[in-house]
Amino acid sequence: MQNSFDTVFDKIISGDIQVDPVFENDDVLAFNDMNPQAPVHVLVIPKKRSSRFSELSTKPVEDTGRFFAAVSAAASSLGLDGPGYRMVVNNGSDGGQEVEYLHAHILGGRRLNWPPG
Ligand code: 5GP
Repeated sequence: MQNSFDTVFDKIISGDIQVDPVFENDDVLAFNDMNPQAPVHVLVIPKKRSSRFSELSTKPVEDTGRFFAAVSAAASSLGLDGPGYRMVVNNGSDGGQEVEYLHAHILGGRRLNWPPG
């Protein structure tokens, strides 16, 4: 288990690890997943730290709104509004969350299967 304040995404936000952003605004940074599961697989991370989705109920609702608006804007900027895409937030161990820093996956570029495994 990683130290929750020393994850790879903390290091990306602090600038200790460099990424090529595909989208950025005041609230989020978005970059390609290093192990893509679809032709488009982008991770969107908030600049204001949360460890996981379930923490958002304890945070100002404006922050949650701005995060989701930014995920939507990132997907639009990637040209995915027309063909569609999936946004996934894994939460905790049963949810398959590996990195203890809130992030949304944007998956697109092919027809995705449902239900997920
Ligand atoms: P989770 O399973 O926590 O929802 O997703 C974590 C994601 O982060 C995985 O899809 C994994 O491939 C991606 N990932 C982990 N470390 C790095 C990294 O250093 N750079 C990038 N670009 N993606 C990473």
